[in-house]
Amino acid sequence: MEPNPAGSTWKRFVAVSRLAVILTIDVARIIAIANQKGGVGKTTTAVNLAASLAAAEQRTLLIDADPQGNATSGVGLQKETIPLTLYDVLVGNSDLRSSRQASIQFEKLDVVGATPDLAAAEVELVDKADRDHVMRGAVEVLREDYDFVIIDCPPSLGLITINMLVAADALLIPLQCEYYALEGLSQLLNTVHRVQHSANEKLGIDGVLLTMYDSRLNLSRQVADDAREYFGPKVFRNVVPRNVRLAEAPSFGKPIILYDIASVGAQAYMNVAKELIERTEQGDDGAQ
Ligand code: ATP
Ligand code: MG
Repeated sequence: MEPNPAGSTWKRFVAVSRLAVILTIDVARIIAIANQKGGVGKTTTAVNLAASLAAAEQRTLLIDADPQGNATSGVGLQKETIPLTLYDVLVGNSDLRSSRQASIQFEKLDVVGATPDLAAAEVELVDKADRDHVMRGAVEVLREDYDFVIIDCPPSLGLITINMLVAADALLIPLQCEYYALEGLSQLLNTVHRVQHSANEKLGIDGVLLTMYDSRLNLSRQVADDAREYFGPKVFRNVVPRNVRLAEAPSFGKPIILYDIASVGAQAYMNVAKELIERTEQGDDGAQ
């Protein structure tokens, strides 16, 4: 019989992950996926990393913090039918526990959705005295419910992103392997330093993930080399290749491992999830 590569990878993946569960971690690691540059793969990473973690039996909460709501629709939720979203949490109408949707496509994946009205939270927060800390208070009470909380940030460094960075243990920065990948990073890192000094000194960088990598292109290799030179071991060993299946999956409302588990995109995100679990185990999360 022909070997089934997808099946054997899957078995290995679950085995390693089970081991991680045994060794682990009874409070959540909160990871904000952030880069103010648009279209670099934040949402693709948030959805597929969260799904891969949940499939690996990690209790995972995916929070959509972008008014575009792409992570919400990416896991198959209908924005029109969600009763409570992150907007309600940030403006004080509700808490995260009441706003989460349980077991979305995976038993261990809960989701807090976002709709366009989240943009109004940015405005409504401005007048609050504790405007940077609202999310921190909201998420802290859920720490014991999860192994990982993954937050998909919007492409800006406004109040919503700041709230997510103040609430997070670390950020994960997706870097698109294209022209100007590193441009604007100093602005993001300045924001991280500001948050470290003013509100959250333990904020670390849990990794820089190279996305839309094309090994045939010098440009991709150049971006990877530059990133590894600058960030050293913080760059994930695994890279996410450019893969059309990853771009197709959201229109079916499915994470890649449910849409096409044999695709190179699915394999990449499972490997990234495994690497993240291993790094978290090793406590490899020092702030920069
Ligand atoms: P925004 O800043 O608007 O929130 P983003 O950083 O969240 O964008 P994504 O929405 O994840 O970026 O990706 C941008 C586009 O690139 C999407 O159409 C997505 O499907 C596609 N894409 C992301 N990663 C890959 C990949 N590895 N291969 C092919 N297409 C990809
Ligand atoms: Mg996005």
